Amino acid sequence: MERNKWGLRKVVSLLVVLALAVSMFTACGSKAGTTDTTKTEPTKAAATETQPTKAAATAEQTGSGQYIGIAMPTQSSERWIKDGAAMKEILESKGYTVDLQYAEDDIPTQKSQIENMITKGAKVLVIASIDGSTLSDTLDAAAAEGIKVISYDRLLVNTDAVSYYATFDNRRVGQQQAQSLVDGLKALKGEGPYNIELFAGSPDDTNSFYFFQGAMDVLQPLIDDGTIVVPSGQVSQDEVGTLRWDGAVAQARMDAILAANYTDGKTLHGVLSPYDGLSRGILSATTAFGLTGSDIPVVTGQDAEAASIKLIVSGDQYSTILKDTRELAKVAAGMVDAVLSGKEPEINDTETYNNNVKIVPSYLLEPFIVTKDNYKELVIDSGYLTEADIK
Ligand code: BGC
Repeated sequence: MERNKWGLRKVVSLLVVLALAVSMFTACGSKAGTTDTTKTEPTKAAATETQPTKAAATAEQTGSGQYIGIAMPTQSSERWIKDGAAMKEILESKGYTVDLQYAEDDIPTQKSQIENMITKGAKVLVIASIDGSTLSDTLDAAAAEGIKVISYDRLLVNTDAVSYYATFDNRRVGQQQAQSLVDGLKALKGEGPYNIELFAGSPDDTNSFYFFQGAMDVLQPLIDDGTIVVPSGQVSQDEVGTLRWDGAVAQARMDAILAANYTDGKTLHGVLSPYDGLSRGILSATTAFGLTGSDIPVVTGQDAEAASIKLIVSGDQYSTILKDTRELAKVAAGMVDAVLSGKEPEINDTETYNNNVKIVPSYLLEPFIVTKDNYKELVIDSGYLTEADIK
């Protein structure tokens, strides 16, 4: 009873203080919310509102220390290091607190890293998954806490807990890989028909499907009309996938294909490779098989990794695809900022990326084919890599 009376008195006096604070605040002409329960809230809001426009424009301090979790798949491939670093830099410059984690391609590690971010009170999660289908429960848990999830580069599937998707036009990437393969065959391997072999990415990465589909948009008609032959007969994505995008796996498969199909003097003219790390494994296999100089097959790639640009300059790898990760990081950071400011992020695709539960609103960036002819302009002059990186 006594306690209740004391409690009532306390509530009444708190209300009085609150009413006073609100009336003082309103007198100052502020738009303070009347639902605030502390005296300090409106003052803080007022301080933010009255910040000089110039300072706000240059500093863009929208983060207010809010905690953002970024989960990246691995540091074994150059691009993810760049992606993570670029996003961290942008978000920290806006005043966010960033927790950037790499899972070294281990699915349970990535899952527990994300769970940890949820426990630590992340406001937004930006996730480039290892296997986009294994995180549904974790993402449901995030959604239950009101945490927004942005799918980064790779699509998170089988969940409605993903709000936006920042990526490249992935089908276009595959079309470009195949187009550069065909261009290279015509430029370097005479008239044809051409013997080629196909490699796809990790079967648990949704991107692999889009890349392969894009590549087959270009290659299938040429296979059908006999311009292109696949001597191993391995043409379905099931047969040509490369688990975890592992270069050693690609190298072993190339070794096996060469031993089984090319020992009778048949020429291997080209290889569709969806990622530079695989391309280098494939080239190691073809070199070990004795294909050097003009016998080196036309090999494609992706990511404009320094080691592959070197091979493009030396004439070993034919092409790669540049996907400017700095731009992707900008898009994703912009999405984080927008969702936390109650704004709609900019999106440019609402049709392509169906994750089995919904079509995820996406922002797609443009990829570029890189060859010996244009690497300087696209990769070096743009500052994506430096001359020192490719020495
Ligand atoms: C990315 C590629 C990358 C590959 C291997 C894909 O999901 O889109 O850029 O080459 O993963 O890391």
